[in-house]
Amino acid sequence: MSSVLESTPPRFSVDEVGALARALFGLGGEVRDLGSERDQAFLVGDAVVKIANAAEDPEVLAFEAAAIEHALRVDPGLPIARQLATALHDGHVVRLFERMHGRHGGADLSDAAVGDYGRTHARLQRALSSLFHPAAGRELLWDLAHASQLRALVGHVDGGRRGLVEAVLDRYEERVAPRWRSLPAQVVHGDLNLGNVLLDGDGRISAILDFGDACHTARIADTAIALASLLRGRPADDVFRVARLALDGYEPVEPEELEVVGDLVATRLAAIVTISAWRVSRYPENAAYIQQEDDDSWRLLELRDELGADRFSEELGAARPLVSTRELARRREAAMGSLLTNLTYDEPVHPVRGEGVWLVDDEGRRLLDAYNNVPVVGHCHPRVTEAVVRQTRTLNTHARYAYEPLVELAERLLATMPGLDTVMLVNSGSEANDVAWRIARGVTGNQGAVVTEHAYHGVTAAIADLSPEEWPRGEPPPHVTRIPPTLELPPLDGVAATFLDTGLTSDGVFPATAERAQALVRATHDAGGLFVADEVQIGYGRSGEDLWMYRHLGLEPDLVTLGKPMGNGYPVAAVLTRRELVERFPYAGTVFSTFGGNPVAAQAALAVLDVIEDERLVLHAKRVGESLRAWIRALAHPAIRDVRGIGLLTGVELDSPERARAVVDALRRDGVLIGRTGRSDEVLKIRPPLLFDDSHVARLLEALDSSLH
Ligand code: PMP
Repeated sequence: MSSVLESTPPRFSVDEVGALARALFGLGGEVRDLGSERDQAFLVGDAVVKIANAAEDPEVLAFEAAAIEHALRVDPGLPIARQLATALHDGHVVRLFERMHGRHGGADLSDAAVGDYGRTHARLQRALSSLFHPAAGRELLWDLAHASQLRALVGHVDGGRRGLVEAVLDRYEERVAPRWRSLPAQVVHGDLNLGNVLLDGDGRISAILDFGDACHTARIADTAIALASLLRGRPADDVFRVARLALDGYEPVEPEELEVVGDLVATRLAAIVTISAWRVSRYPENAAYIQQEDDDSWRLLELRDELGADRFSEELGAARPLVSTRELARRREAAMGSLLTNLTYDEPVHPVRGEGVWLVDDEGRRLLDAYNNVPVVGHCHPRVTEAVVRQTRTLNTHARYAYEPLVELAERLLATMPGLDTVMLVNSGSEANDVAWRIARGVTGNQGAVVTEHAYHGVTAAIADLSPEEWPRGEPPPHVTRIPPTLELPPLDGVAATFLDTGLTSDGVFPATAERAQALVRATHDAGGLFVADEVQIGYGRSGEDLWMYRHLGLEPDLVTLGKPMGNGYPVAAVLTRRELVERFPYAGTVFSTFGGNPVAAQAALAVLDVIEDERLVLHAKRVGESLRAWIRALAHPAIRDVRGIGLLTGVELDSPERARAVVDALRRDGVLIGRTGRSDEVLKIRPPLLFDDSHVARLLEALDSSLH
């Protein structure tokens, strides 16, 4: 592998090169040696002449030329020195390059220049990513893919500091090498250090030189080489800040790349001092060139040794090591006190990743998620995730500006709700209900509300009043009338609105029948009020009957509110209503929520609608939900009092709240997540992402069965 590094570099004198340049390229002018490692480079007049090592494979030199050509074809704005001509002399390939202008720089680079360095390098990486060349697989000792081979050279490093290098290589072998194959890889420049670029007056890259280390390798290794260079000469307390600024230019850096970037920077530093020690022992006359980066590299290796490898990597942007669940719970309590709800389960869940119907916890355990309705199309669905990321990279602003996703989303929603013609986008179910409540009072002039006995509609002051589940013991708000799950409305007047979650989830899962729900709408209208279909829980296909449960029930609501699953986890919510009502609302035209329906939120919501349609999740929810309930009934356990539900919303009423609690905690220990609901929390709440399938039903059933025995 080291044949080129091992073979003696060419040793042409300045005079010989002058004659050569004239003979081969008709070039005149002053000749200046630019210094080099394994070949020779000279400035001749207004061009650069490079004389390759005799051991250099001509195929590899052709690859370097192809890389330059390719990058310039893809991104002509890149300031790359072009190869102008090539010739052969005495077994050496002699190449003529365009002369580039600029100065060398280092620790003097401004923050803006550092950011520009990363961005320009990332552009070069992108341009090279589409190149194939048979010689790109060349093996170079400088390629961090082969860092283990530095072991053989460590003996050349001064004994007193050898341990620093060995520690880096140990960690490389333990943490980096095993992951190498899964890192994004491509053709890269391979040595975009400060010595291989020229800078303009502002410190921005004006020239990219020397593709002599180009090869096919992990992209992040190429990035690490640039970072290691940018850190040189920086005070210890500035090193990491500079590295992070540079790294920001490389977006996107994949998580698996971030995990190794710190170790790769260290490996690059170790490679510099090791290869330098070895080469100086062979070519002491070239020591000044070979050792120019040594001092700074040692200083950084010493800094890493002081801080420890973990800190060094963390500071460079790698993921923080996981904190134990217990420690996290303690810090949560310390930072948040008791205002926020407690952690769920006697053994709290500490998920680090989600995928479909699964959550993976900090110990790598896979937990079957039969509880969360927000990830309606599955945790981290790639279509939604990508929609969010793509839009985040492009633009995120607010609804006072015109942009397509907002309008498209509004139109898509309206198309699913015949009879409604006006949309307001907000950020949470609570906010949607709050706006609906405001409209209802404004339009009707009434103050009364009707909700089910144990309903939940949201967290704002006005909506907490309409959420008996949230009421502390004591007087219910006087303007609120509660009705039982049978939905019988006593004679009333002065009603502004009735809010109904037609799944009656918080009441203990008593899905409304068409007849009762329709009667409630009529009674509400008779009492002078508007009817709000709260589809925050039951909407988005959970009922397995229709995208919207109210439509399945044949209702004609005045307002519909949406939330939770709408963005599959990205905060987005909506109120839909009729124009005629809005026109009677005194505050129409003034309602605005900064984040409501912003481009990213709208893209998330559009992707969710697409996925539900493409994966035919509504029908799926009906079939799997019905099968789930049939299987639970078939358990025929005496503790099970009732099994209710619709689609993928299921309530299993047990004989006591204590039993329900024990079952939920037992399932959690068994790796299956469900919840509780109902007036005394005696009902198991099973409300999974709509992807839940027969195999998941089987797993849930097995766990439920054993928890009941
Ligand atoms: N309405 C219903 C029926 C809900 O279940 C919820 C949340 N559980 C809300 C409204 C409030 O939504 P959010 O928490 O997004 O404010």
